[in-house]
Amino acid sequence: MANHIQVYNPASGELIKEVPMNTKEQINQSLANGHMEFKKWSRTDAHTRSKLLKDWSRVIQENKEKIAEVMTLENGKPLKESIGEVNYATSYIDWYAEEATRIYGRTVPASSPSKRIIVNRQPIGLVAAITPWNFPAAMMTRKAAPALAAGCTFIVKPAEETPLTTMKLIELAHDVGIPKDAIQYVNGNGPEIGSLFTDSEHVRKITFTGSTPVGKTLIRNSADTVKHVTMELGGHAPLIVAEDADLDFAVTQTIISKFRNAGQTCVCANRVIVHENIIDSFSEKLAKAVSTLKVGHGLDNDTDIGPIINEKGYRKIVNQVNDALDKGAEVLVGNKFSANKEQDTYFVHPTILQNIDESMNIMHEETFGPVIPLVSFKEIDEAVELANHTPYGLAAYFFTNDYRVGTYLQEHLDFGIIGWNDGAPSGAHVPFGGMKESGLGREGGAEGIEPYLETKYVSVGGY
Ligand code: ADP
Repeated sequence: MANHIQVYNPASGELIKEVPMNTKEQINQSLANGHMEFKKWSRTDAHTRSKLLKDWSRVIQENKEKIAEVMTLENGKPLKESIGEVNYATSYIDWYAEEATRIYGRTVPASSPSKRIIVNRQPIGLVAAITPWNFPAAMMTRKAAPALAAGCTFIVKPAEETPLTTMKLIELAHDVGIPKDAIQYVNGNGPEIGSLFTDSEHVRKITFTGSTPVGKTLIRNSADTVKHVTMELGGHAPLIVAEDADLDFAVTQTIISKFRNAGQTCVCANRVIVHENIIDSFSEKLAKAVSTLKVGHGLDNDTDIGPIINEKGYRKIVNQVNDALDKGAEVLVGNKFSANKEQDTYFVHPTILQNIDESMNIMHEETFGPVIPLVSFKEIDEAVELANHTPYGLAAYFFTNDYRVGTYLQEHLDFGIIGWNDGAPSGAHVPFGGMKESGLGREGGAEGIEPYLETKYVSVGGY
Protein backbone atom coordinates (compact mmCIF):
# COMPACT_ATOMS: atom_id res chain seq x y z
CA MET A 1 0.00 0.00 0.00
CA ALA A 2 1.19 3.53 -0.66
CA ASN A 3 1.96 5.60 2.42
CA HIS A 4 -0.50 8.48 2.21
CA ILE A 5 -3.85 9.47 0.79
CA GLN A 6 -3.73 12.93 -0.68
CA VAL A 7 -6.92 14.85 -0.06
CA TYR A 8 -7.61 17.57 -2.62
CA ASN A 9 -10.13 20.39 -2.79
CA PRO A 10 -12.22 19.43 -5.85
CA ALA A 11 -13.06 23.10 -6.48
CA SER A 12 -9.46 24.33 -6.72
CA GLY A 13 -7.25 21.28 -7.01
CA GLU A 14 -5.27 22.37 -3.93
CA LEU A 15 -3.81 19.71 -1.66
CA ILE A 16 -5.60 20.02 1.69
CA LYS A 17 -3.93 17.27 3.67
CA GLU A 18 -2.00 14.03 3.47
CA VAL A 19 -3.50 11.26 5.54
CA PRO A 20 -1.45 8.18 6.50
CA MET A 21 -2.70 4.94 5.00
CA ASN A 22 -2.93 2.05 7.40
CA THR A 23 -0.98 -1.11 6.73
CA LYS A 24 -2.60 -4.51 6.53
CA GLU A 25 -1.13 -5.37 9.96
CA GLN A 26 -2.53 -2.16 11.50
CA ILE A 27 -5.98 -2.83 10.04
CA ASN A 28 -6.02 -6.41 11.29
CA GLN A 29 -4.94 -5.13 14.71
CA SER A 30 -7.78 -2.58 14.69
CA LEU A 31 -10.23 -5.36 13.83
CA ALA A 32 -8.89 -7.48 16.70
CA ASN A 33 -9.16 -4.47 19.04
CA GLY A 34 -12.74 -3.80 17.95
CA HIS A 35 -13.57 -7.44 18.58
CA MET A 36 -11.99 -7.37 22.07
CA GLU A 37 -13.73 -4.11 22.95
CA PHE A 38 -17.07 -5.62 21.95
CA LYS A 39 -16.95 -7.78 25.09
CA LYS A 40 -16.92 -4.60 27.21
CA TRP A 41 -19.01 -2.19 25.14
CA SER A 42 -21.83 -4.69 24.63
CA ARG A 43 -22.10 -5.00 28.42
CA THR A 44 -22.19 -1.26 29.03
CA ASP A 45 -25.75 -0.47 30.02
CA ALA A 46 -28.01 1.09 27.43
CA HIS A 47 -28.44 4.33 29.40
CA THR A 48 -24.68 4.90 29.48
CA ARG A 49 -24.43 4.24 25.74
CA SER A 50 -27.32 6.60 25.16
CA LYS A 51 -25.69 9.33 27.26
CA LEU A 52 -22.36 8.97 25.42
CA LEU A 53 -24.14 9.26 22.06
CA LYS A 54 -25.90 12.42 23.25
CA ASP A 55 -22.54 13.85 24.32
CA TRP A 56 -21.09 13.00 20.92
CA SER A 57 -23.94 14.77 19.15
CA ARG A 58 -23.55 17.84 21.37
CA VAL A 59 -19.82 18.19 20.76
CA ILE A 60 -20.30 17.81 17.00
CA GLN A 61 -22.87 20.60 17.13
CA GLU A 62 -20.44 22.74 19.11
CA ASN A 63 -17.88 22.26 16.31
CA LYS A 64 -20.41 22.48 13.49
CA GLU A 65 -18.89 25.37 11.52
CA LYS A 66 -15.38 23.90 11.59
CA ILE A 67 -16.58 20.47 10.50
CA ALA A 68 -18.72 21.96 7.73
CA GLU A 69 -15.76 23.89 6.40
CA VAL A 70 -13.61 20.76 6.26
CA MET A 71 -16.45 18.99 4.48
CA THR A 72 -16.76 21.72 1.87
CA LEU A 73 -13.01 21.71 1.35
CA GLU A 74 -12.74 17.99 0.70
CA ASN A 75 -16.11 17.35 -0.96
CA GLY A 76 -16.86 20.64 -2.71
CA LYS A 77 -20.50 21.02 -1.65
CA PRO A 78 -21.72 24.53 -0.78
CA LEU A 79 -21.10 25.48 2.86
CA LYS A 80 -24.84 25.79 3.55
CA GLU A 81 -25.24 22.16 2.43
CA SER A 82 -22.32 21.09 4.63
CA ILE A 83 -23.94 22.75 7.64
CA GLY A 84 -27.16 20.97 6.69
CA GLU A 85 -25.28 17.68 6.49
CA VAL A 86 -23.72 18.11 9.95
CA ASN A 87 -27.23 18.66 11.33
CA TYR A 88 -28.48 15.64 9.39
CA ALA A 89 -25.54 13.56 10.69
CA THR A 90 -26.20 14.49 14.33
CA SER A 91 -29.91 13.79 13.91
CA TYR A 92 -29.00 10.10 13.46
CA ILE A 93 -26.95 10.16 16.65
CA ASP A 94 -29.80 11.85 18.54
CA TRP A 95 -32.35 9.39 17.20
CA TYR A 96 -30.30 6.29 18.08
CA ALA A 97 -29.31 7.70 21.46
CA GLU A 98 -33.04 7.43 22.19
CA GLU A 99 -33.48 4.04 20.51
CA ALA A 100 -30.61 2.61 22.61
CA THR A 101 -32.90 2.55 25.64
CA ARG A 102 -35.79 0.97 23.73
CA ILE A 103 -34.33 -2.32 22.58
CA TYR A 104 -37.04 -4.59 23.88
CA GLY A 105 -37.28 -8.36 24.06
CA ARG A 106 -40.51 -10.24 24.73
CA THR A 107 -42.00 -13.32 26.31
CA VAL A 108 -44.01 -15.87 24.39
CA PRO A 109 -46.70 -18.14 25.88
CA ALA A 110 -45.19 -21.63 26.11
CA SER A 111 -46.81 -24.80 24.79
CA SER A 112 -46.33 -26.55 28.15
CA PRO A 113 -46.92 -25.39 31.73
CA SER A 114 -43.38 -26.49 32.63
CA LYS A 115 -41.74 -24.09 30.20
CA ARG A 116 -41.08 -20.36 29.93
CA ILE A 117 -40.03 -18.63 26.72
CA ILE A 118 -37.93 -15.48 26.52
CA VAL A 119 -36.88 -13.67 23.34
CA ASN A 120 -33.82 -11.48 23.83
CA ARG A 121 -32.13 -9.00 21.51
CA GLN A 122 -28.37 -8.68 21.61
CA PRO A 123 -25.76 -6.81 19.59
CA ILE A 124 -24.26 -8.79 16.74
CA GLY A 125 -20.58 -7.90 17.26
CA LEU A 126 -17.99 -5.85 15.43
CA VAL A 127 -19.45 -3.91 12.48
CA ALA A 128 -17.27 -2.82 9.55
CA ALA A 129 -18.50 0.09 7.43
CA ILE A 130 -17.38 1.47 4.08
CA THR A 131 -18.69 4.92 3.24
CA PRO A 132 -18.80 7.18 0.16
CA TRP A 133 -17.56 10.71 -0.47
CA ASN A 134 -20.93 12.35 -1.18
CA PHE A 135 -22.10 12.53 2.47
CA PRO A 136 -18.91 12.06 4.49
CA ALA A 137 -20.59 12.77 7.85
CA ALA A 138 -24.13 11.44 7.58
CA MET A 139 -23.35 8.15 5.83
CA MET A 140 -21.00 7.33 8.69
CA THR A 141 -23.22 8.41 11.59
CA ARG A 142 -26.29 6.64 10.29
CA LYS A 143 -24.31 3.40 10.56
CA ALA A 144 -22.19 4.18 13.64
CA ALA A 145 -25.02 5.55 15.81
CA PRO A 146 -27.33 2.51 15.62
CA ALA A 147 -24.33 0.17 15.89
CA LEU A 148 -23.07 1.83 19.08
CA ALA A 149 -26.60 2.20 20.44
CA ALA A 150 -27.20 -1.52 19.98
CA GLY A 151 -23.91 -2.35 21.76
CA CYS A 152 -21.87 -3.21 18.67
CA THR A 153 -18.36 -1.92 18.11
CA PHE A 154 -17.69 -0.12 14.86
CA ILE A 155 -14.88 0.44 12.38
CA VAL A 156 -15.15 2.53 9.22
CA LYS A 157 -13.16 3.07 6.07
CA PRO A 158 -14.15 6.46 4.68
CA ALA A 159 -13.87 7.26 0.97
CA GLU A 160 -10.34 8.18 -0.11
CA GLU A 161 -11.65 11.51 -1.45
CA THR A 162 -13.15 12.62 1.89
CA PRO A 163 -11.56 11.01 4.97
CA LEU A 164 -11.13 14.24 6.98
CA THR A 165 -14.74 14.82 8.07
CA THR A 166 -15.08 11.23 9.27
CA MET A 167 -11.76 11.35 11.14
CA LYS A 168 -12.78 14.55 12.89
CA LEU A 169 -16.16 13.12 13.95
CA ILE A 170 -14.55 9.99 15.35
CA GLU A 171 -11.94 12.00 17.24
CA LEU A 172 -14.83 13.91 18.85
CA ALA A 173 -16.47 10.60 19.82
CA HIS A 174 -13.29 9.65 21.66
CA ASP A 175 -13.11 13.09 23.29
CA VAL A 176 -16.49 12.57 24.97
CA GLY A 177 -15.49 9.16 26.31
CA ILE A 178 -16.68 6.61 23.75
CA PRO A 179 -13.89 4.02 24.02
CA LYS A 180 -11.20 4.27 21.33
CA ASP A 181 -11.75 0.71 20.16
CA ALA A 182 -15.55 1.01 20.17
CA ILE A 183 -15.43 3.37 17.19
CA GLN A 184 -12.39 3.43 14.89
CA TYR A 185 -11.41 4.51 11.40
CA VAL A 186 -8.86 3.10 9.03
CA ASN A 187 -7.66 4.70 5.82
CA GLY A 188 -6.51 3.18 2.58
CA ASN A 189 -7.47 1.63 -0.69
CA GLY A 190 -11.12 0.49 -1.02
CA PRO A 191 -10.72 -3.00 -2.51
CA GLU A 192 -7.83 -3.91 -0.19
CA ILE A 193 -9.57 -2.81 2.99
CA GLY A 194 -12.84 -4.27 1.72
CA SER A 195 -11.16 -7.70 1.50
CA LEU A 196 -9.61 -7.38 4.96
CA PHE A 197 -13.07 -6.57 6.34
CA THR A 198 -14.89 -9.37 4.55
CA ASP A 199 -12.17 -11.97 5.27
CA SER A 200 -12.00 -11.13 8.98
CA GLU A 201 -13.56 -13.63 11.35
CA HIS A 202 -13.97 -10.78 13.85
CA VAL A 203 -16.37 -8.79 11.67
CA ARG A 204 -19.98 -9.91 12.00
CA LYS A 205 -21.54 -7.30 9.76
CA ILE A 206 -20.62 -5.26 6.71
CA THR A 207 -22.53 -2.06 6.11
CA PHE A 208 -21.84 -0.21 2.89
CA THR A 209 -23.03 2.87 1.03
CA GLY A 210 -21.71 3.24 -2.49
CA SER A 211 -22.01 1.88 -5.99
CA THR A 212 -23.95 -1.26 -6.90
CA PRO A 213 -20.95 -3.15 -8.40
CA VAL A 214 -18.88 -2.67 -5.22
CA GLY A 215 -21.91 -3.65 -3.11
CA LYS A 216 -22.27 -6.88 -5.08
CA THR A 217 -18.58 -7.68 -4.50
CA LEU A 218 -18.96 -7.10 -0.77
CA ILE A 219 -22.08 -9.32 -0.62
CA ARG A 220 -20.22 -12.10 -2.48
CA ASN A 221 -17.15 -11.79 -0.27
CA SER A 222 -19.25 -11.81 2.89
CA ALA A 223 -20.66 -15.23 2.02
CA ASP A 224 -17.69 -17.31 3.21
CA THR A 225 -18.07 -16.13 6.79
CA VAL A 226 -21.86 -15.56 6.51
CA LYS A 227 -21.75 -11.95 7.63
CA HIS A 228 -24.81 -9.78 7.94
CA VAL A 229 -24.91 -7.13 5.23
CA THR A 230 -26.66 -3.80 4.80
CA MET A 231 -26.25 -2.27 1.36
CA GLU A 232 -27.24 1.24 0.29
CA LEU A 233 -26.40 1.19 -3.40
CA GLY A 234 -27.13 3.15 -6.56
CA GLY A 235 -30.42 4.71 -7.60
CA HIS A 236 -32.11 6.02 -10.71
CA ALA A 237 -34.98 7.98 -9.25
CA PRO A 238 -37.96 8.83 -11.41
CA LEU A 239 -39.87 12.03 -10.66
CA ILE A 240 -43.38 12.02 -12.09
CA VAL A 241 -45.42 15.20 -12.54
CA ALA A 242 -49.10 14.38 -13.00
CA GLU A 243 -51.46 16.50 -15.07
CA ASP A 244 -53.13 18.06 -12.01
CA ALA A 245 -49.89 18.86 -10.11
CA ASP A 246 -49.18 22.27 -8.63
CA LEU A 247 -46.46 23.17 -11.13
CA ASP A 248 -44.69 25.88 -9.13
CA PHE A 249 -44.42 23.56 -6.16
CA ALA A 250 -43.29 20.66 -8.37
CA VAL A 251 -40.57 22.87 -9.88
CA THR A 252 -39.21 23.93 -6.48
CA GLN A 253 -39.20 20.36 -5.24
CA THR A 254 -37.60 19.03 -8.43
CA ILE A 255 -34.76 21.47 -7.91
CA ILE A 256 -34.34 20.39 -4.29
CA SER A 257 -34.32 16.75 -5.31
CA LYS A 258 -32.10 17.09 -8.36
CA PHE A 259 -29.40 19.61 -7.52
CA ARG A 260 -28.39 18.88 -3.95
CA ASN A 261 -24.67 18.11 -3.84
CA ALA A 262 -24.47 19.00 -7.57
CA GLY A 263 -26.74 16.05 -8.34
CA GLN A 264 -24.33 13.63 -6.66
CA THR A 265 -26.70 11.76 -4.36
CA CYS A 266 -28.21 8.32 -4.83
CA VAL A 267 -31.73 9.72 -4.29
CA CYS A 268 -31.43 12.63 -6.74
CA ALA A 269 -34.21 12.66 -9.35
CA ASN A 270 -32.62 11.12 -12.43
CA ARG A 271 -35.56 11.06 -14.85
CA VAL A 272 -38.29 13.69 -14.86
CA ILE A 273 -41.46 12.23 -16.36
CA VAL A 274 -44.16 14.82 -17.05
CA HIS A 275 -47.73 14.57 -18.36
CA GLU A 276 -47.84 15.62 -22.02
CA ASN A 277 -50.52 18.28 -21.44
CA ILE A 278 -48.36 20.22 -18.98
CA ILE A 279 -44.81 19.43 -20.09
CA ASP A 280 -44.43 22.76 -21.94
CA SER A 281 -45.48 24.94 -19.03
CA PHE A 282 -43.57 22.77 -16.53
CA SER A 283 -40.35 22.89 -18.56
CA GLU A 284 -40.63 26.63 -19.06
CA LYS A 285 -40.94 27.21 -15.30
CA LEU A 286 -38.20 24.68 -14.55
CA ALA A 287 -35.82 26.21 -17.09
CA LYS A 288 -36.37 29.66 -15.63
CA ALA A 289 -35.62 28.50 -12.09
CA VAL A 290 -32.64 26.35 -13.08
CA SER A 291 -31.06 29.25 -14.98
CA THR A 292 -30.68 31.17 -11.71
CA LEU A 293 -28.56 28.49 -9.99
CA LYS A 294 -24.96 29.58 -9.40
CA VAL A 295 -22.07 27.25 -10.01
CA GLY A 296 -18.88 27.84 -8.03
CA HIS A 297 -16.67 27.12 -5.05
CA GLY A 298 -18.52 25.79 -2.05
CA LEU A 299 -17.05 28.40 0.29
CA ASP A 300 -18.50 31.26 -1.79
CA ASN A 301 -21.76 32.34 -0.16
CA ASP A 302 -23.88 32.44 -3.28
CA THR A 303 -22.86 29.02 -4.67
CA ASP A 304 -25.71 26.59 -5.30
CA ILE A 305 -23.77 23.98 -7.23
CA GLY A 306 -20.21 22.99 -6.42
CA PRO A 307 -17.71 20.93 -8.41
CA ILE A 308 -18.02 17.34 -9.53
CA ILE A 309 -15.95 15.17 -7.21
CA ASN A 310 -13.43 13.89 -9.78
CA GLU A 311 -12.68 13.31 -13.43
CA LYS A 312 -14.31 9.88 -13.47
CA GLY A 313 -17.61 11.37 -12.25
CA TYR A 314 -17.30 14.26 -14.70
CA ARG A 315 -16.61 11.97 -17.70
CA LYS A 316 -19.65 9.89 -16.89
CA ILE A 317 -21.91 12.96 -16.94
CA VAL A 318 -20.38 14.36 -20.15
CA ASN A 319 -20.72 10.97 -21.86
CA GLN A 320 -24.38 10.66 -20.89
CA VAL A 321 -25.15 14.15 -22.18
CA ASN A 322 -23.27 13.56 -25.45
CA ASP A 323 -24.92 10.19 -25.94
CA ALA A 324 -28.36 11.80 -25.49
CA LEU A 325 -27.51 14.66 -27.88
CA ASP A 326 -26.21 12.20 -30.50
CA LYS A 327 -29.50 10.34 -30.28
CA GLY A 328 -31.65 13.43 -30.79
CA ALA A 329 -32.01 15.14 -27.39
CA GLU A 330 -32.21 18.94 -27.30
CA VAL A 331 -30.70 21.31 -24.77
CA LEU A 332 -33.21 23.46 -22.92
CA VAL A 333 -30.72 24.91 -20.43
CA GLY A 334 -27.02 24.40 -19.74
CA ASN A 335 -24.82 21.85 -21.50
CA LYS A 336 -21.92 23.92 -20.27
CA PHE A 337 -18.89 22.25 -18.76
CA SER A 338 -15.72 23.68 -17.24
CA ALA A 339 -12.85 21.25 -16.86
CA ASN A 340 -9.36 22.30 -15.86
CA LYS A 341 -7.15 19.29 -16.49
CA GLU A 342 -4.10 20.91 -14.93
CA GLN A 343 -5.87 21.67 -11.66
CA ASP A 344 -7.96 18.50 -11.93
CA THR A 345 -11.19 20.41 -11.30
CA TYR A 346 -14.51 19.77 -13.01
CA PHE A 347 -17.76 21.74 -13.01
CA VAL A 348 -21.02 20.94 -14.78
CA HIS A 349 -23.59 23.71 -15.17
CA PRO A 350 -27.15 22.65 -14.45
CA THR A 351 -28.58 21.20 -17.61
CA ILE A 352 -32.05 20.26 -18.84
CA LEU A 353 -32.43 18.00 -21.85
CA GLN A 354 -35.69 17.42 -23.72
CA ASN A 355 -36.77 15.14 -26.52
CA ILE A 356 -35.48 12.20 -24.53
CA ASP A 357 -36.19 8.58 -25.33
CA GLU A 358 -35.46 5.23 -23.77
CA SER A 359 -32.56 4.47 -26.13
CA MET A 360 -30.42 7.02 -24.30
CA ASN A 361 -28.01 5.93 -21.55
CA ILE A 362 -29.22 8.69 -19.25
CA MET A 363 -32.54 6.83 -19.01
CA HIS A 364 -30.78 3.75 -17.61
CA GLU A 365 -27.55 4.79 -15.88
CA GLU A 366 -27.25 6.78 -12.67
CA THR A 367 -25.99 10.24 -13.70
CA PHE A 368 -24.63 11.60 -10.40
CA GLY A 369 -24.59 15.09 -11.82
CA PRO A 370 -26.80 18.16 -12.34
CA VAL A 371 -28.58 17.02 -15.51
CA ILE A 372 -32.33 16.58 -15.96
CA PRO A 373 -33.73 14.52 -18.83
CA LEU A 374 -37.39 15.42 -19.47
CA VAL A 375 -39.74 12.75 -20.82
CA SER A 376 -43.49 12.96 -21.40
CA PHE A 377 -46.26 10.46 -20.73
CA LYS A 378 -49.95 10.21 -21.55
CA GLU A 379 -51.50 7.56 -19.29
CA ILE A 380 -50.46 7.06 -15.68
CA ASP A 381 -49.59 3.34 -16.19
CA GLU A 382 -47.20 4.42 -18.91
CA ALA A 383 -45.44 6.64 -16.35
CA VAL A 384 -45.27 3.75 -13.89
CA GLU A 385 -43.86 1.42 -16.51
CA LEU A 386 -41.22 3.95 -17.48
CA ALA A 387 -40.37 4.63 -13.83
CA ASN A 388 -40.04 0.94 -12.93
CA HIS A 389 -37.99 0.14 -16.03
CA THR A 390 -34.69 0.04 -14.17
CA PRO A 391 -32.79 -2.47 -12.06
CA TYR A 392 -32.68 0.19 -9.34
CA GLY A 393 -35.37 0.79 -6.72
CA LEU A 394 -34.19 3.42 -4.26
CA ALA A 395 -36.25 6.64 -4.40
CA ALA A 396 -39.17 7.79 -6.54
CA TYR A 397 -41.06 11.07 -6.44
CA PHE A 398 -44.40 12.17 -7.78
CA PHE A 399 -46.49 15.30 -7.74
CA THR A 400 -50.26 15.14 -7.72
CA ASN A 401 -53.09 16.40 -5.54
CA ASP A 402 -55.45 13.74 -6.84
CA TYR A 403 -55.53 11.08 -4.13
CA ARG A 404 -56.54 8.40 -6.63
CA VAL A 405 -53.51 9.06 -8.84
CA GLY A 406 -51.29 9.31 -5.75
CA THR A 407 -52.57 6.10 -4.23
CA TYR A 408 -52.10 4.27 -7.52
CA LEU A 409 -48.56 5.57 -7.88
CA GLN A 410 -47.42 4.86 -4.34
CA GLU A 411 -48.74 1.32 -4.61
CA HIS A 412 -47.24 0.55 -8.03
CA LEU A 413 -43.81 2.17 -7.90
CA ASP A 414 -41.12 -0.40 -7.00
CA PHE A 415 -38.97 1.87 -4.85
CA GLY A 416 -38.09 1.82 -1.15
CA ILE A 417 -38.54 5.57 -0.67
CA ILE A 418 -41.49 7.46 -2.10
CA GLY A 419 -41.83 11.24 -2.02
CA TRP A 420 -45.46 12.19 -2.76
CA ASN A 421 -45.37 15.95 -3.20
CA ASP A 422 -42.04 15.78 -1.40
CA GLY A 423 -38.63 16.19 -3.03
CA ALA A 424 -36.68 15.67 0.21
CA PRO A 425 -38.10 12.73 2.13
CA SER A 426 -34.90 11.66 4.01
CA GLY A 427 -34.59 11.88 7.80
CA ALA A 428 -33.15 10.02 10.78
CA HIS A 429 -36.63 8.97 11.91
CA VAL A 430 -37.58 7.15 8.69
CA PRO A 431 -36.39 3.90 7.05
CA PHE A 432 -34.11 4.76 4.14
CA GLY A 433 -33.18 2.05 1.66
CA GLY A 434 -33.77 0.48 -1.69
CA MET A 435 -35.43 -2.42 -3.45
CA LYS A 436 -33.96 -4.49 -6.30
CA GLU A 437 -30.30 -3.65 -7.07
CA SER A 438 -30.43 -0.53 -4.90
CA GLY A 439 -29.71 -2.49 -1.78
CA LEU A 440 -30.56 -4.63 1.19
CA GLY A 441 -31.85 -3.44 4.55
CA ARG A 442 -32.87 -0.04 5.84
CA GLU A 443 -31.07 2.74 7.71
CA GLY A 444 -32.85 5.21 9.94
CA GLY A 445 -36.07 4.94 11.91
CA ALA A 446 -37.00 2.03 14.13
CA GLU A 447 -35.88 -0.31 11.32
CA GLY A 448 -32.35 1.10 11.30
CA ILE A 449 -31.24 -0.52 14.56
CA GLU A 450 -32.56 -3.98 13.66
CA PRO A 451 -29.58 -4.93 11.45
CA TYR A 452 -27.28 -4.52 14.47
CA LEU A 453 -29.24 -6.91 16.68
CA GLU A 454 -29.43 -10.68 16.89
CA THR A 455 -32.50 -12.43 18.21
CA LYS A 456 -31.86 -15.05 20.88
CA TYR A 457 -34.68 -17.30 21.95
CA VAL A 458 -34.40 -18.98 25.34
CA SER A 459 -36.58 -21.88 26.33
CA VAL A 460 -36.61 -22.47 30.07
CA GLY A 461 -37.92 -25.95 30.91
CA GLY A 462 -38.43 -28.08 34.02
CA TYR A 463 -40.47 -25.50 35.90
P1 ADP B 1 -17.75 5.89 -6.28
O1 ADP B 1 -17.39 5.31 -7.62
O2 ADP B 1 -18.87 6.83 -6.32
O3 ADP B 1 -16.57 6.42 -5.51
P2 ADP B 1 -17.62 3.40 -4.87
O4 ADP B 1 -18.67 2.39 -4.64
O5 ADP B 1 -16.46 3.02 -5.75
O6 ADP B 1 -18.35 4.68 -5.43
O7 ADP B 1 -16.99 3.92 -3.50
C1 ADP B 1 -17.67 3.95 -2.27
C2 ADP B 1 -16.74 3.43 -1.19
O8 ADP B 1 -16.37 2.09 -1.51
C3 ADP B 1 -15.43 4.20 -1.05
O9 ADP B 1 -15.09 4.24 0.32
C4 ADP B 1 -14.44 3.31 -1.80
O10 ADP B 1 -13.10 3.43 -1.34
C5 ADP B 1 -14.96 1.94 -1.47
N1 ADP B 1 -14.60 0.88 -2.43
C6 ADP B 1 -14.32 0.98 -3.75
N2 ADP B 1 -14.08 -0.24 -4.28
C7 ADP B 1 -14.19 -1.13 -3.26
C8 ADP B 1 -14.09 -2.57 -3.15
N3 ADP B 1 -13.79 -3.33 -4.21
N4 ADP B 1 -14.27 -3.13 -1.95
C9 ADP B 1 -14.59 -2.38 -0.88
N5 ADP B 1 -14.72 -1.04 -0.91
C10 ADP B 1 -14.52 -0.42 -2.08
